[in-house]
Amino acid sequence: MNECGDTCCSVESREEEPPGSPEPPGTNEPPSRFFTSPFNLATESCLAVAAPPRAETASDLPLIAVDRLTLAPGATSHRTAPVEVRWRRIPVTNQAAVRRWTADLVGTPSARRSSPPTQAFRQRFFADVTDAQWDDWRWQARHRIRTPEQFAHMLQLSPTEHAALLEGGTMLPVGVTPYYMSLISPDNPQQPLRKTVVPTTAEFTRMPGEADDPLGEDGHSPVPGLVHRYPDRVLLLPLDFCSTYCRYCTRSRVVGHGEIVPNEARLDAIFDYLERATTVRDVLISGGDPLALSDERLDAILSRLRSIPHIEFVRIGTKMPAVLPQRITPQLCEVLRRYHPLWMSLHFVHPDECTPESAEACGRLADAGIPLGSQTVLLRGVNDNVDTMKQLVHRLLMMRVRPYYLYQCDPISGSSHFRTPVSKGLEIIAGLRGFTTGYAVPTYVIDAPGGGGKIPLQPDNVVGRDGDDLLLRNFEGRTFRYPDPQLPMS
Ligand code: SF4
Repeated sequence: MNECGDTCCSVESREEEPPGSPEPPGTNEPPSRFFTSPFNLATESCLAVAAPPRAETASDLPLIAVDRLTLAPGATSHRTAPVEVRWRRIPVTNQAAVRRWTADLVGTPSARRSSPPTQAFRQRFFADVTDAQWDDWRWQARHRIRTPEQFAHMLQLSPTEHAALLEGGTMLPVGVTPYYMSLISPDNPQQPLRKTVVPTTAEFTRMPGEADDPLGEDGHSPVPGLVHRYPDRVLLLPLDFCSTYCRYCTRSRVVGHGEIVPNEARLDAIFDYLERATTVRDVLISGGDPLALSDERLDAILSRLRSIPHIEFVRIGTKMPAVLPQRITPQLCEVLRRYHPLWMSLHFVHPDECTPESAEACGRLADAGIPLGSQTVLLRGVNDNVDTMKQLVHRLLMMRVRPYYLYQCDPISGSSHFRTPVSKGLEIIAGLRGFTTGYAVPTYVIDAPGGGGKIPLQPDNVVGRDGDDLLLRNFEGRTFRYPDPQLPMS
């Protein structure tokens, strides 16, 4: 099992340095600097009283009070742009005065935007954790729930969950961020989100047709960390770490094993290959979750890709907005917006993932000019009905995310409990098409085993032909004629 301190923190654990040393108490002419969010200024709860990034205990807070906020030139929102902050150190004991003073300056912070389950979970298991800590994605990564004891402490485990956690030996590690755990039912093993991240012994079952690498990616890897299956596009895997491990992951065979690390030699080999592969115009960075990389590392990778003239289009695949929305900081968005055209494929599977935190994360990415699409996997007992899927696609649109693909679950080893008949996917598409805007209807695809690529499937709306008329069925099941004469070949 991969430690956060391995892949993730070998990349990430370096604490951000504060932008400068606080002035001694009472100093009225403090330094003033531009920075994006090392003080979590973008979160409403921390807007008035900012906490230094290293603050780990309540007694550390607040050390610094914001004196004045000024947006960077041309910026329209403190959420998406660097902020000039004038600040001064004040005594910890005088917190009430700090709040009054800063509220006068920047307004009273609105109520925390967390869903009730998250608030209740924090109160129960992380009561001493400050907002600044909870909102810090590195804190979340460091405090992932990973051991059977931790799961048993927070959840009433079913016998099959308990056995799977104790026995281990599944292909995929176990790990859940505290934030995502807050969305999980403590006492209902059938809750959809719980099924996606808590293992059961069903993962030990192997069925005919399943494979560790059903898409045949390993056979199309010219250098480690790169899959080149189509002439014009490649998949770049910089790391195998994810903050939360989805039990149906297509890359279970590699994800979380700590073998794919973004070291210089590995990345150099990838970039050397891409410089020579002049047919490649499109790079998808996925993983593992590429947003588990530090801003600096991501910046370096994107910059190197952008220096290759024939690479026109860069995409990032990530589940962070769903499992660790705290990762989507204004600072990260500042990095990403430098590399347009940059698109993002997000990974949402259930409407319960569409929380205020996720909406804020997606809003920040969208404000940074990044087109957002969701790739959703069709999962038995999770989202395999029209009502759930309709709720999901509607909430995604509200979060400025276009439902892009609905994937038939790949036949990964140990995934039979998640797979549905293909007819279920067609039924869901038929239940969406015409009943909601076309923007909400994803393309249902099967990623063909063996490397055949994505094959779209849709309900058959062509009923037949009557002379020069094509007979078509609409979403209500009514038949219509469309004039379609068979013209002689010229
Ligand atoms: S986030 Fe993606 S790569 Fe990571 S475990 Fe989930 S499906 Fe796999």
